[in-house]
Amino acid sequence: MKIPMLDLKAQYRGIKSEIDSAVIEVFESQYFILGPKVKECEAAIAEHSNCSHAVGVSSGTDALLIALMAEEIGPGDEVITTPYTFFSTGGSIARMGARPVFVDIDPRTYNIDPALIEAAVTPKTKAIIPVDLYGQSADMDPIMEIARRHNLIVIEDAAQALGAEYKGRRAGSIPHYGCFSFFPSKNLGGAGDGGMVVTNDEQRAEKLVALRAHGSKPKYYHKVVGGNFRLDALQAAVIIVKLSHLDGWTAGRQANAARYNELFRAAGLVDDGKVTLPDVVTDRHVFNQYVIRVPMRDELIEALKANDVACQIYYPVPLHLQECFADLGYKEGDMPESEKAARETIALPIYPELSDEQAKYVVDCIGEFLM
Ligand SMILES: *Cc1c(COP(=O)(O)O)cnc(C)c1O
Repeated sequence: MKIPMLDLKAQYRGIKSEIDSAVIEVFESQYFILGPKVKECEAAIAEHSNCSHAVGVSSGTDALLIALMAEEIGPGDEVITTPYTFFSTGGSIARMGARPVFVDIDPRTYNIDPALIEAAVTPKTKAIIPVDLYGQSADMDPIMEIARRHNLIVIEDAAQALGAEYKGRRAGSIPHYGCFSFFPSKNLGGAGDGGMVVTNDEQRAEKLVALRAHGSKPKYYHKVVGGNFRLDALQAAVIIVKLSHLDGWTAGRQANAARYNELFRAAGLVDDGKVTLPDVVTDRHVFNQYVIRVPMRDELIEALKANDVACQIYYPVPLHLQECFADLGYKEGDMPESEKAARETIALPIYPELSDEQAKYVVDCIGEFLM
């Protein structure tokens, strides 16, 4: 049996006629950049994430970047974030000329540990970027409370968490900004790059709209310098179609996670401490990834590869130890939980189309290796 990390061809087969006609509609309109499809997509994502405004942009990375630009965060400013995330989170801060300040994670959820944030706040701190890693919301209440006390902006990196919920509230709807990605491997992936910023603040939304098109407002008049961060109509059309299937796919991912948990328990791998299952501490974990901790992780990966089971390490090097951030002065041992997670974790295939039989095969392979 061969098991991929993700099976987008299977997903496409299920919705081919809807996608094909949406794409043809865009070609017939010849309206490729922004326009009515993008507006429709923005309204749909705003509704889905319970926000009053959504601004379509060119990627999840650009969503983070444009939110930082809207707050005029730059040289001399500090932004607190987690080192255990996709590079984009820290890279966006650095690209604005600001300094990323890393705060270690809670080992149960892999998300930034709110108890450690306040000690990292300085007079230069302007914002916090929590990440909803693997599809589970960060612990937003204490983060928002710290932000209120210190007058900080919070930008939620919800690139992996569209539709996730924290105490009944959708990812992206709690802080000043929520950022989504439509990269094809996310839970809601486009047919290329795409992203969205959501906010409940009208003025912030207006600023994002201007910055997305070179700060232009009205057209050809520029009070600020923005960039080309526009979402295109083809992506919007695909995202609109896929959004109507997202709840079903999320249910599929959650069912697969529950099945993996059951299989690992039945194999005795949880009780004997060999496998640590994902900890679900929020209302709606959307499982962009299913991540477990295991001993001898690197050897296990080789064993899985030999059995044609795909798996991934998210992420092998925490951001504070990346070469490009060497001048920030961090060293090994500074973020022990992130470093431990980078050594011990492995993501297994969790896509909605994964069958019972495939899940069982994955767990059998792991059991065989660990026994
Ligand atoms: C995917 C991802 C991004 C960036 O999204 P792109 O659309 O690829 O630019 C940012 N942050 C996190 C946590 C991500 O997983």
